[in-house]
Amino acid sequence: MTAPPPPGGTTPREAAAPGRLSWHVATLASARWESATARTLAFDVPGWPGHLAGQHVDVKLTAEDGYSAQRSYSIASAPDNAAPGHAAPDNAAPGGGATLELTVQRLDDGEVSPYLTDVLEPGDQVELRGPIGGWFVWRPAPQPPLQLIAGGSGIVPLMAMIRAAQPDAGHAPAVPLRLLYSARTPADVIYSGDLAQRARAPRFSLSYALTRAQPPSAPSAPPAGPSARVAGNGQSELAPGPSVSYGRISTDVIAAAAWEPRVTPAIFICGPSGFVEAAADLLIAAGHDPAAIKTERFGPT
Ligand SMILES: Cc1cc2nc3c(=O)[nH]c(=O)nc-3n(C[C@H](O)[C@H](O)[C@H](O)COP(=O)(O)OP(=O)(O)OC[C@H]3O[C@@H](n4cnc5c(N)ncnc54)[C@H](O)[C@@H]3O)c2cc1C
Repeated sequence: MTAPPPPGGTTPREAAAPGRLSWHVATLASARWESATARTLAFDVPGWPGHLAGQHVDVKLTAEDGYSAQRSYSIASAPDNAAPGHAAPDNAAPGGGATLELTVQRLDDGEVSPYLTDVLEPGDQVELRGPIGGWFVWRPAPQPPLQLIAGGSGIVPLMAMIRAAQPDAGHAPAVPLRLLYSARTPADVIYSGDLAQRARAPRFSLSYALTRAQPPSAPSAPPAGPSARVAGNGQSELAPGPSVSYGRISTDVIAAAAWEPRVTPAIFICGPSGFVEAAADLLIAAGHDPAAIKTERFGPT
């Protein structure tokens, strides 16, 4: 599929209504695999107005016969206004615009995602419009600690927040940060290398909940709870360091991996609808203020 000629135009970075946004022609500059099924696409986007961590774009593919398909994808790259003290943007493109990264998880029976992961090559063009969304955003300013909870590709907008809070992976994030990331197996974890490196910094706690992996049969492993076992371990295929639980997220997993309610963190949850609802319910049951919880659901668009 190819995109029609550029419509041009720029939009305010906090614009939230897709209907009022202009379409930009985006050229794929480079791509890399993040997991067995997820690929990060770095697009050069002339005229891009900038974005906030957590926002998304609509991507439009148009076939030569005029048929077009459109899907939403979160922006993975850091915004151009990273944390205080780290003002230099690393995504500014020469001559204006920006290089914008999206990470797409391939759904084997999907219409658009397999094209983006398996077919699109550097130099190919798509159309995109955005940035979209004014609610599920994190701004680098004096902030409470961050609690991020991701299911599957729901890690993508949270990664933009992490990159905004921690522009230099070797240094502590601007605010204390906890990430609980649920994926099927270690092979399905997106950004695993980047996250492992970042989590070595102070004030960054990383926990995985693996839903389709077997716990290592280490004799020293703690006894299993009703639905999960939490073990600080280096025995999975994940890089050593993060704690890993097995099974769906549960009261035990939340108690082990999330901030206590008294910390009053800002909470962002993203993933499939069922996951988001379960995570939000568990947090509220644990005593977190529902008003502190922001959610984004990745369903069919
Ligand atoms: C705000 C927002 C941001 C998003 N950000 C990202 C992102 O950063 N990365 C990413 O990979 N995806 C993201 N998505 C999901 C994305 O928009 C598409 O839904 C997804 O890529 C599937 O499109 P497709 O054309 O391949 O599948 P389709 O042809 O639309 O659907 C194929 C089958 O998969 C089911 N399906 C569709 N979408 C999903 C889904 N998300 N999860 C499970 N089953 C699904 C459909 O019901 C259908 O059975 C986001 C969605 C929203 C609403």
